[in-house]
Amino acid sequence: MAYAYDDQNIFAKILRGEIPCDKLLETEHSFAFRDIAPKAPEHVLVIPKGAYVTWDHFAAEATDAELADFARAVGKVAEMVGARPGDGGNGFRLIANAGEDGVQEVPHLHVHVLAGRPLGWMVQPR
Ligand code: AMP
Repeated sequence: MAYAYDDQNIFAKILRGEIPCDKLLETEHSFAFRDIAPKAPEHVLVIPKGAYVTWDHFAAEATDAELADFARAVGKVAEMVGARPGDGGNGFRLIANAGEDGVQEVPHLHVHVLAGRPLGWMVQPR
């Protein structure tokens, strides 16, 4: 199934510089900025610069260079917020919500990098 990308979504506007953000990292194919409503002491969103809606869209259509750059950008952000267990940090959690059941609010792929406190259960049991 083809994805329709809405270029008026808020992250597209951030990428175009139309609205401000608290930028942390920019690479050739990726961009990272702090979440406006942080759910943890460190809450960073990492997005590809390309027009991808969800993880599966990105996995299916991104170039190898975009995929590698994005994976490394996420790792770099974990390092920048001091959360890398390999460096003595306390660890972090990655979340990429997709679609309705994933409760994705912004239709541009983003990985949440959360750190800075114990993050509890992965998903609320119910
Ligand atoms: P999701 O539910 O996975 O789509 O998450 C969207 C995230 O984007 C939420 O955590 C929001 O707080 C965050 N967000 C929305 N608008 C902005 C903005 N202008 N700058 C930074 N983060 C934002």
